[in-house]
Amino acid sequence: MKKRVGVFVCDCGANIASVVDTEKVAQLASQIPGVAFATTYKYMCSDPGQEQIRKAIQEQNLEQVVVASCSPRMHEGTFRKAVQAGGINPYLFEMVNIREQDSWVHHDREQATQKAQDLVRMAVSKVLRNVPLQISTVPITKKALVVGGGIAGMQAALDIAEAGHQVILVEREASIGGKMTQLDKTFPTMDCAA
Ligand code: SF4
Repeated sequence: MKKRVGVFVCDCGANIASVVDTEKVAQLASQIPGVAFATTYKYMCSDPGQEQIRKAIQEQNLEQVVVASCSPRMHEGTFRKAVQAGGINPYLFEMVNIREQDSWVHHDREQATQKAQDLVRMAVSKVLRNVPLQISTVPITKKALVVGGGIAGMQAALDIAEAGHQVILVEREASIGGKMTQLDKTFPTMDCAA
């Protein structure tokens, strides 16, 4: 596999750029072995930002992509789609969180920038080891097997049954109830445990 990583560093307006020197992060990223292209953009998740990623993949012949921006919970899906639209397997992509885990929690610009650089370096290292993955679907039987008939197992079985699914509860002992059945009364109600 070719080692042509593209690194895209997001400003998130002032959210990231007011604390992290994103230009410096991109500039240093461009010197990491395997990185063929690195740039910044004000709002990477916007349509023009995604278009920039797609265009760079084509024009720079990129094979892997790293985006340094916010939490993957927010935009991992967005960027996977953008990367796929550019012609790269969506799993040859890594996202680095330099907002929630960096600019939002640090005040020292130099140290926050250093942290962003370290995170980007780690993501580049990771993405170079990624392999293309394919999404597959498999048929499932909507039935559950709960192993262990203690209190947790019994409650889990009841919850699943109440959700409308068939459950099979398996217990190796002669009766269910687990440790609870060895108790006499339980605090604070003093109910009989059995
Ligand atoms: S990708 Fe994330 S960090 Fe960048 S502009 Fe969008 S929300 Fe902000």
